Amino acid sequence: MMQRSGEISHRLTRARTLGQWRAGAIARRDLCDADFILVTASRFHGNPAGYPCPVCEGKDLRIVYWVYGDELGKASSTARSMEEIEAFVAEGKTFRVHTVEVCPSCRWNHLLSEVTVTNGGASDGG
Ligand SMILES: [Zn+2]
Repeated sequence: MMQRSGEISHRLTRARTLGQWRAGAIARRDLCDADFILVTASRFHGNPAGYPCPVCEGKDLRIVYWVYGDELGKASSTARSMEEIEAFVAEGKTFRVHTVEVCPSCRWNHLLSEVTVTNGGASDGG
């Protein structure tokens, strides 16, 4: 069982950032600065967001999970699928998962939330 704790939502920051962009206070190039690694990761490991990009309204907006933690060894700071994350948890690892929104079209990217995941122990006793 995957247990989540210490979740931090960054949706307010996202809304504020987008508001500042619409008001002309932030340049689009400062919002749309996803690097090559992030865009590539979004294509290979990302899932469709299910809603359009808030900047360019592109339909290819992706959700990518990045994992961080000493217990992950060299897998730390890499993009992972939810299946891989569940496998790490099943191995007993505790680590942080960052959920990042990435638009491969305009390179908009934003951290949506971060959470600690850990193995809560099997619940299928008996
Ligand atoms: Zn976009």
